[in-house]
Amino acid sequence: MGRFVYADNAATTPVSKAVLEAMEPFYTQYYGNPSSLYSVGRAAKKPLELAREKVAQCLGAKPNEIYFTSGGSEGDNWAIKGVAHEQSKKGKKHIITSKFEHHAVLHSCEALEREGFEVTYLDVHENGLVRPEELEAAIREDTALVTIMYANNEIGTIQPIPEIGAICKKHGVIFHTDAVQAVGHVHINVKEQNIDILSLSAHKFHGPKGIGAIYIRSGIRCPNLIDGGAQERGRRAGTENVASIVGMSVALEEACKNIDANAQRLSKMRDRLIDGLLKIERSRVNGDRVKRLPGNVNMCFEGIEGESLLLSLDLQGICVSSGSACTSGSLDPSHVLLAIGLPHEIAHGSLRITLSDQNTEEDIDYILEVLPPIIERLRSMSPLWEEIVKGQKKFA
Ligand SMILES: *Cc1c(COP(=O)(O)O)cnc(C)c1O
Repeated sequence: MGRFVYADNAATTPVSKAVLEAMEPFYTQYYGNPSSLYSVGRAAKKPLELAREKVAQCLGAKPNEIYFTSGGSEGDNWAIKGVAHEQSKKGKKHIITSKFEHHAVLHSCEALEREGFEVTYLDVHENGLVRPEELEAAIREDTALVTIMYANNEIGTIQPIPEIGAICKKHGVIFHTDAVQAVGHVHINVKEQNIDILSLSAHKFHGPKGIGAIYIRSGIRCPNLIDGGAQERGRRAGTENVASIVGMSVALEEACKNIDANAQRLSKMRDRLIDGLLKIERSRVNGDRVKRLPGNVNMCFEGIEGESLLLSLDLQGICVSSGSACTSGSLDPSHVLLAIGLPHEIAHGSLRITLSDQNTEEDIDYILEVLPPIIERLRSMSPLWEEIVKGQKKFA
């Protein structure tokens, strides 16, 4: 009895077995501080640099362009605040971003606005995509930074990153991308795609939580966020989290090795799930159906509260999310769904199902078996649904 299906992989992923095994010796045997000169310390130094090479290789970067961080939020803060402060010395105090970035980006931009920076928030339109021509039109003489996420964490849409990179290069503007949802899931090459700074986080690709990395193209000036010791070539202080760094590199290596096979398998599962759920009346998919992450399903069912759906699914052993994990708990509608033009009532009723390579076709069968009757039951109890079917209430 009772299947368990974890389908909230955009929130976080379980650590893989290989990752756990690779980490263990750094807690028990090679626990020395990599800056120490005795052998148990030195023993941790080499794996650290090997991990840096692996991360660099997966991104098409050079090892000396990779700095380890505590995760995606730190990388976003470092990139945005660092570049903005550096560029402001030249009088450049304008930043371009999009309306549906992760809060690590949006709140960093808001902090800079309070310091006197000006921020342009690009529209992402109904399909959840930035239009490169609108980005180009927004660039000014005093633009310090463009920061556009690679793939959205709620609706999974993948931005036209190579086009955006080319435009930024043409205008001599620094381009940062929050690639936390994309790394390990889609092909990234920072050089070919003209990305100057990229942030990533291990726990979104079966690595441990609380570890990440940032790529900063050599020559780009981005002052430190965290001052202190001389770790990370003086750019990011703090004793290195060797076990997690090694774990992250193993996870990323696995993900990059299997990227095509995983994408192919997952997008087939994703599409079967979407097609199955679209049979439910008055349902819709949020975001472009093609330009989206292989594992991302995001849908609205009219007359349904996302939260009540989530709780009913939890009782059946299915873990999904409504809106984004960082904001659920509050009953604010998702800023992402509002950005793609959904009215407040509908933006409350979204469901995000995110698959990883650990999910199976049987998981999809189970979701398709369990979810439609829950919606039917919730709707049968909903006065709102009654108004909708009687045509007294209109949704977009
Ligand atoms: C998860 C996530 C973050 C935050 O990463 P942490 O490592 O949890 O700090 C930032 N941006 C996006 C797009 C994310 O999905």
